[in-house]
Amino acid sequence: MIIGIDDTDSRKGMCTTYLCAVLVDELKGYGDVSTPRLVRLNPCIPFKTRGNGAVAFEINMSPGKEEKVKEVVKARVSELSEVQEEGTNPGVVFIEDTALRAMNGGGSHEKHILNLKNFYETAVRDVLKIEHAYAIIAELQFDHFGLKNKRGLIGALAAASFLVLQKREPAYYDFTYELIAYRRKERWGTSRFIEEASVWNADEATYPATWDTVDLANKKLVLAPHSPCPVLFGIRGDSVDALYKAYQLIHAETTERKMLFVTNQGTDSHLITCEEAKGTVHDYHSYILDGVVESNPRTIEGGHVVFALSLPQNTNTEGHLECVAYEPTKGFRDIIRQLRIGDEVTVYGSFKNRTINLEKIELRKLNVEVKTNPKCTKCGRRMESAGRSQGYRCRRCKTYSSEKEVHIADRGIEEGLYEVPPVARRHISKPLIRVCKQEGIGNIHPGR
Ligand code: ATP
Repeated sequence: MIIGIDDTDSRKGMCTTYLCAVLVDELKGYGDVSTPRLVRLNPCIPFKTRGNGAVAFEINMSPGKEEKVKEVVKARVSELSEVQEEGTNPGVVFIEDTALRAMNGGGSHEKHILNLKNFYETAVRDVLKIEHAYAIIAELQFDHFGLKNKRGLIGALAAASFLVLQKREPAYYDFTYELIAYRRKERWGTSRFIEEASVWNADEATYPATWDTVDLANKKLVLAPHSPCPVLFGIRGDSVDALYKAYQLIHAETTERKMLFVTNQGTDSHLITCEEAKGTVHDYHSYILDGVVESNPRTIEGGHVVFALSLPQNTNTEGHLECVAYEPTKGFRDIIRQLRIGDEVTVYGSFKNRTINLEKIELRKLNVEVKTNPKCTKCGRRMESAGRSQGYRCRRCKTYSSEKEVHIADRGIEEGLYEVPPVARRHISKPLIRVCKQEGIGNIHPGR
């Protein structure tokens, strides 16, 4: 049976991954429990607490235990969820073995797999209504459980769907790992003790098989949250061995437990390409868009850097939108400040209020031409304009030139892909170090 769970936490406490870890450990008494999945869904969803995460795991047990396992899950979700908080609306989806077998049997059930694939992909990139989840739950006859408005059923069904698809074909979606260490209950809400030097050491010993543990440029640890939740820290990466190696090297307060998750973090699964966008962009969605810089960047109040981008193919923005590198993206803003009108770029980020919140940028073709008024061939001084579309003249020497002079400027910046630093990275965004490893593309400038 596959069990998906979501929306159990609030800003004041709890974490759905912790609840999952508790259940995975407890349910080992009932059968074999798989490595749980942690999926990050659409990062623009307004209802999210933090990283819009949801979880799922599979339990293989002897017949007759399903009802007891469901009872345990419902009891833990009811007991540990922050239901007293307004925005917490837990949801649980159970996909029983009979349904799993039927789906894997092919035939008309293949349609059900497609439903789950669509649902997961829509949950990562788009905005769903609870009715969408209910429709699939009813059609596929999944058992489910929820509290309050049960919005968590959306995330629960998406996480369970991800696991169904991964079970059929492990590499169907790009994936990474996170090893999360949880605090003892009496320490929740107190400041975390993690020996800083040991984290730098762990990073040095395991990067780039692990990533987003530290931020070198900003001299910050990025493995621990700052909220009162049960998470002590999480180590993210592509190799399970490297994760455990880093874990062994980190000295910190005594933990209650740890749990390894297979996740869609660090994969850019949320981004909709130019071709997929088909010329329109919508609020609460994230895109990869090709355009040309239309205004020189300017720094606005708060330290954010903005520029206008021309997107001739785009219909619903009249071919223009704003791009912003927010203040927390720190040194990334220095790259953006160096853009010039005419630079051909590809921007990566989420869209809201006619603005792209930049996560990455590719400088495809820098505009290296600088045009100046020509010099007088007699006196060597710069000529002045002779009037609109009238060319240039030197009044003293009575010389004339019709064209500006073109110089090739040294832009002091290289073409290629740039990203926000780890301190400002979304869980789901793919760090460029992964792009280098997977695609071997040159001209990549990892931002740590
Ligand atoms: P944490 O990361 O700490 O677990 P969170 O940021 O995941 O917290 P949740 O408490 O899970 O936040 O709240 C997100 C809510 O949004 C859930 O109810 C989930 O079902 C719902 N949701 C997730 N993705 C979508 C989507 N694409 N469309 C509509 N609702 C969504």
